[in-house]
Amino acid sequence: MGDEWEPPLPAGYSDVNRAFLQAFMARGTLTFREGQRLLAAIQSASEGGSHIDPASITMDEFQNFIRTARDAVEPLDFDIRNTRDQIRGGERVWAFINAHSDPATQLSTTHTPEEVAYVKRLLDAMFEQYNTPRMEVMAVDEGQALRVSRPAARRESNMNGNDNDDEEHQEDGAAAAATGRGLKHSEVLSLLSSLVAEGWLDKSLNGFYSLTPRSLMELWSWLVATYNESDADADDDWQRIKFCEACKEIVTYGQRCNEPNCTIRLHDICEDGFWRTRPERKCPKCSTPWEGNHYVGERAVTSRSGFQRGRGRRARRTEAAEAEENGADEE
Ligand SMILES: [Zn+2]
Ligand SMILES: [Zn+2]
Repeated sequence: MGDEWEPPLPAGYSDVNRAFLQAFMARGTLTFREGQRLLAAIQSASEGGSHIDPASITMDEFQNFIRTARDAVEPLDFDIRNTRDQIRGGERVWAFINAHSDPATQLSTTHTPEEVAYVKRLLDAMFEQYNTPRMEVMAVDEGQALRVSRPAARRESNMNGNDNDDEEHQEDGAAAAATGRGLKHSEVLSLLSSLVAEGWLDKSLNGFYSLTPRSLMELWSWLVATYNESDADADDDWQRIKFCEACKEIVTYGQRCNEPNCTIRLHDICEDGFWRTRPERKCPKCSTPWEGNHYVGERAVTSRSGFQRGRGRRARRTEAAEAEENGADEE
């Protein structure tokens, strides 16, 4: 194939389809309401400025545009998937994704290698350090995000108290090239804000960073391959990445069975529908009454006594230290 090769376009692909796909790619995600506004604006423009009311765009129409966009990008190994937002009331979100993606391919065009390496450490903190059988937080606060600003080897040598000399030597050496020097705290903070602005990270009112629906869709396969044991018994063994009993999607914010060793998890947004079809509010696996007061996500920390009592940062630090100790226990 020469330079002229272009992906085949779906039948009936119009300028409106093209403009819709371009806008979707630029944004990364769309809700139905955003899709209505976008399509109304594109169609109004293509019809010479006649006003089209966003509310007149139906879900069917929106989904037709999504389907055509998906047909257009599939030959290029992209996909459009949708999921519901676990945290914000379950609104459905469509995302333009690279299905074979890992954090490096996602971020390497817009971020430096040091930043990409930091994001991997941040994900390890979310899904390993702060995600243990006792505390499935899967989110980090700012202090925890700053604690992984440098690679582990560097942090250890800092702890040994010989950091400055050591740093200069390492910068020259191959070890530095392999592990990287890490980021300054100010660089971490500005990277975190840009990852929030780019739609990769969510920042909660309590200051916890977690993955957005878009990141979860994009990194689904990578997260499972990276953090779960492939030879574990899917039903019985605790795994780092867990799925909702109702919708089968990843749970990073939701509820867990009151029996500490049980692996059943449920999104808040899925529970109404789930219990409606059952005679009793009991865990479908171990039959423990489901009280909905054991959490996955930041509430594993914030629901603990002390966090909400206005002790602010100090309380949060205590909880963080506790979560860290729990993490160390599990290793
Ligand atoms: Zn669910
Ligand atoms: Zn259970």
